[in-house]
Amino acid sequence: MRQETKRLTDEYEVSEILGRGGFSVVRKGIRKSSGEKSHVAIKTLKRLGPSTPAGIPRSRGGEKSIASAGFSMWKQVHVSDALLANEILVMRKIVENVSPHPNVIDLYDVYEDQNGVHLVLELCSGGELFDRIVAQEKYNEAGAAAVVRQLAEGLVALHQANIVHRDLKPENCLFLDKSADSPLKIMDFGLSSVEQFTDPVVGLFGSIDYVSPEALCQGTVTSKSDMWSLGVILYILLSGYPPFIAQSNRQKQQMIMAGDFSFYEKTWKNISSSAKQLISGLLTVDPHRRACAQELLQHPWVIGYSAKQDQMDAEIVSRLQSFNARRKLRAAAIASLWTSTFFFRTKKLKSLLGSHDLTQEELENLRIHFTKICSKGDNATLSEFEEVL
Ligand code: ATP
Repeated sequence: MRQETKRLTDEYEVSEILGRGGFSVVRKGIRKSSGEKSHVAIKTLKRLGPSTPAGIPRSRGGEKSIASAGFSMWKQVHVSDALLANEILVMRKIVENVSPHPNVIDLYDVYEDQNGVHLVLELCSGGELFDRIVAQEKYNEAGAAAVVRQLAEGLVALHQANIVHRDLKPENCLFLDKSADSPLKIMDFGLSSVEQFTDPVVGLFGSIDYVSPEALCQGTVTSKSDMWSLGVILYILLSGYPPFIAQSNRQKQQMIMAGDFSFYEKTWKNISSSAKQLISGLLTVDPHRRACAQELLQHPWVIGYSAKQDQMDAEIVSRLQSFNARRKLRAAAIASLWTSTFFFRTKKLKSLLGSHDLTQEELENLRIHFTKICSKGDNATLSEFEEVL
């Protein structure tokens, strides 16, 4: 039985920050009453618009949620409120139709107070996908295939429940725990869609690297759009760089829409033709001709038959390390832009710039750019950050 008056702190001890997102802060939590699953992640989403007309009920138990009940009103408030309501709506669908699934994050509870809305989630303490890959001593095609297999398993379940993730990227894939055979979980459903709900929010924030051509054209976004994103992740996993690289976002957008990518001989010479064939099948502009998640699970490379066991070229691993460091810096900069005061932003960026594995020249260039942007205080826009990252 749901108790509307229960407060988050009545049931959970909230501790250290695990990470920050564009509109959220995620903390570790411990359930006060004993029992299994006592460690959780608490994602607090700040509301920028007016308060909700009623408390947001928990997702479990089948009560009518504010997300499904009052969404049309929410949409007019502020984009972040729309995203917030959407994330709750999607998580609710996941709880009802997908959970428990080894490759999809689970939601245990939802609370609301003056600080925002708190999603009590399954704790993933195994780190982000690329962080683990670059830290591995042995990394080969078979390892990359195991990653794709898990993501495809998660996508099959989501797509069967009519949920399209729409923001699949490496930072939204976390390992459940630190064990070598830990399941990989798909998370962050803030931009996802359920059934007919398809507001054009894809690509509004952050990189377009993983966004499908149909999403960029504002066409219909379907489950096949997630398959494109998976193709991009796989391309990066096997080369260390993204398939579409351009001087400007506009150019990159054109390349994506034309499916203009290639397998440069120097990097790809040792990668199996089966893997390349799979990537080509995913980075196909026409979504109807693009493989679905179920088909992917039958592909010989994904199963592991044709995935090479040889250690990946050192160059690829080192490029992946540098790609990962840049990606993290970029994400942290964007998170700090949205969530911090100007002073905190400047301070946080300074420490970030000192702690990443970039060359001295790159660091210095970034520092100069950030200093310029930060000096504009609250007038600094996301696109200004994006230009330099
Ligand atoms: P974005 O701006 O990327 O959309 P967001 O606001 O939706 O982000 P998340 O990406 O969900 O926020 O979370 C921010 C960070 O918090 C993640 O990068 C991750 O490090 C950490 N995090 C989120 N959920 C969990 C979890 N369930 N377990 C452990 N850490 C988590």
